[in-house]
Amino acid sequence: MKVSQTIRSVRKNVKEARKQDKTIGLVPTMGALHAGHLSLVEAAKKKCDYVVVSIFVNPTQFGPSEDFEKYPRPIDDDLQKCEKAGVDVVFNPSANEMYPEKVITWVNVEKITDNLCGHSRPGHFRGVTTVCAKLFNIVSPDMAFFGQKDAQQAIVIKRMVADLNMPLEIVVCPIVREKSGMAMSSRNKYLSEQERVDASYIYKSLQKCKEMIDSGSRNTKTIINEMRNILEQKESIKIEYISIVDEKTLENIDYIKNNALIAIAVRIGLTRLIDNFPIDITV
Ligand code: AMP
Repeated sequence: MKVSQTIRSVRKNVKEARKQDKTIGLVPTMGALHAGHLSLVEAAKKKCDYVVVSIFVNPTQFGPSEDFEKYPRPIDDDLQKCEKAGVDVVFNPSANEMYPEKVITWVNVEKITDNLCGHSRPGHFRGVTTVCAKLFNIVSPDMAFFGQKDAQQAIVIKRMVADLNMPLEIVVCPIVREKSGMAMSSRNKYLSEQERVDASYIYKSLQKCKEMIDSGSRNTKTIINEMRNILEQKESIKIEYISIVDEKTLENIDYIKNNALIAIAVRIGLTRLIDNFPIDITV
């Protein structure tokens, strides 16, 4: 496995693979890799001949009071995991390599970034879309792999790629969960044992929502109230939002008529956690 810390080096590696007619898959990450990330690598290996994993804690997607500084960066461990997973090249640039100058050129997807995490993390998605556009330009992959875990991010990236005619396919992979149901996340490392137990209530509330929908509930206020009741059983959980939104516009809906997304963000102590379920009422 190769490790490239510069844009020049990763481009050289990809160029060599292209010369051999290999298709290129990119898995963008911020590192502190877990089974969720590795499921994306697995999917990339199935669909592409040459897999690039980027590990970059992107400063432009963090707000001033967020956890950029303390975000975990266990790079040696990450490289071992990538090697074991059969990754071809890890792109692990410095912030200076990615942003040699103060950014004045942004890629900004409007409207679908207003609600959910866009509301509570102003500027976050502008940072995500800008860094992904840069990564797509640097690596020029045929496919890039994202997790349903960050549902809004996946929808926003898909829209950016469509609107700007970027020549790649976005593949969205299912959420990998702990035994307790909690979605795997690099931020789970921040949680104490008790907080982990409490965090499993997020999944419990999503299951309740699914049960209600399966048995015919369509009124989102009623469903959200039930979910709130479950989450409020744990004092440590501070709800940021519980929203049921249209899967395309990401606007809140009162009544579930078409496919939708139920999305949750909470804080447990200082840790912000998100989770979601896609709702498909056609099956
Ligand atoms: P991150 O390193 O948190 O920026 O995540 C990198 C990619 O991994 C994103 O596309 C995430 O949606 C995806 N991802 C993170 N956690 C999971 C998970 N539990 N299951 C599936 N994909 C995940």
